[in-house]
Amino acid sequence: MNTQLAANTKSDYVVAKFGGTSVANFDAMSRCAEIVCADNQVRIVAVSASAGVTNHLVALCKRDLSAAERDEHITGVVAIQEAILAELSLDADLAHGFNETLKAFQNLASEGAKSVAEQDELLSFGERFSSYLFTQVLRGQGLDAVRFDVRKVLKTDSQFAKATPNVAATAAAAKEHLVPLLDDQVVVTQGFIGSNEHNQTTTLGRGGSDYSAALLAEAINAKSVHIWTDVVGIFSTDPRLCAKASPIARLSFDEAAEMATFGAKVLHPATILPASRSHISVFVGSSREPQLGGTWIEKEKSQQPGIRAVTQRKNQILLTVKSPEMLLASGFLARVFTILSEFNISVDLVTTSEISVAITLDNAPNASRPELDQACLDKLSEFCHVSVENNLTLVALIGSEIQLRQQEMNLMQVLSDFNIRLICHGASKHNLCFLVEQSESDYVVQAIHSRLLESQVAA
Ligand code: ASP
Ligand code: MG
Repeated sequence: MNTQLAANTKSDYVVAKFGGTSVANFDAMSRCAEIVCADNQVRIVAVSASAGVTNHLVALCKRDLSAAERDEHITGVVAIQEAILAELSLDADLAHGFNETLKAFQNLASEGAKSVAEQDELLSFGERFSSYLFTQVLRGQGLDAVRFDVRKVLKTDSQFAKATPNVAATAAAAKEHLVPLLDDQVVVTQGFIGSNEHNQTTTLGRGGSDYSAALLAEAINAKSVHIWTDVVGIFSTDPRLCAKASPIARLSFDEAAEMATFGAKVLHPATILPASRSHISVFVGSSREPQLGGTWIEKEKSQQPGIRAVTQRKNQILLTVKSPEMLLASGFLARVFTILSEFNISVDLVTTSEISVAITLDNAPNASRPELDQACLDKLSEFCHVSVENNLTLVALIGSEIQLRQQEMNLMQVLSDFNIRLICHGASKHNLCFLVEQSESDYVVQAIHSRLLESQVAA
């Protein structure tokens, strides 16, 4: 056992999370194990399912699968585990648990999930498998590692597929079951999954392991959470789109939350919530190249005012409602928003004038929001002229203290080449957003990055 472990005080604990590509196979897991071994403050390791596994599980949740398709996905999941197992020999405690879990998976997957609760149970197997395997990899590198079922502590409501954590219940359970283990062991547990008050398995939504790690860090009063992924931090924009995109060394919680919300894919958007309310710093780095550093997200404001990143979110809808009747009358906005909330529609950006309001709605395939349905449009049409435009992209500039200074004047020049549908600025000093045609949005992002962010780095 690593004797230095016991010397650390509780507030020095670090939770490390390894994403799907970081635990995709034995070699990737071994690199992650080296990271854990090198930092004796890491006491909890939360793992994702190995890359590809959750996609198979999602496919297995579909009700209309043919037997052949079902078989193909079951084989796919098992093959990924077996490839890792081929390089490992599981200790008896882990072998027993793993084999039981494998049987349970095969039973449920071949029967098919018959309820949303069973779907979450099925989705949970990826993280359950990878946590057994990763525990053994850590032991192979000499650490005293123990596997822990996170469902004992990560308590949620019963909204299957997108459960909301119960922070108080999680903290209480962690204090009882998890904290006592941390003094002299490294605990390996699962991201993404939790359990409700009846101990049924729940999941936090796709990509939810980052969120789990932050929630666990909060529950054990850790000082930081390290999110190890396949990129060296959060970039000024998507590097696949702009070759000159660069990692950002420091972000404030507000900036990071805006980036995650507005489309930067690196972190699950909810991750920042527990971190910022409990002052836990978040590090994002690459498990392949840990020596390259990454992005630190902390409470402090970032270095200087200005624009730090540009993101985009495609598949946005622009809903415009206009009511000449409401000229000089009051209550127009209240009526519109009451109807939207009746239909459970969550509004993104809003701009208004006396008799009209323009609203954007997120219609991305993974958006958790219900579609804008005809019944809602009919109800608005009773007192408004309603128009709906699709195929738009929301482009967001993220930074701190964004004000219309020199840099933003350059922005106006860049934008003059494009058709801008709506601009929102002022409600938050951390973003400036606008809508553009989806077909043009990649060019808009490239133009903004090259004009505003690359020149900034050079300056
Ligand atoms: N395995 C889950 C997913 O692929 C959760 C995660 O990796 O964060 O969405
Ligand atoms: Mg992820």
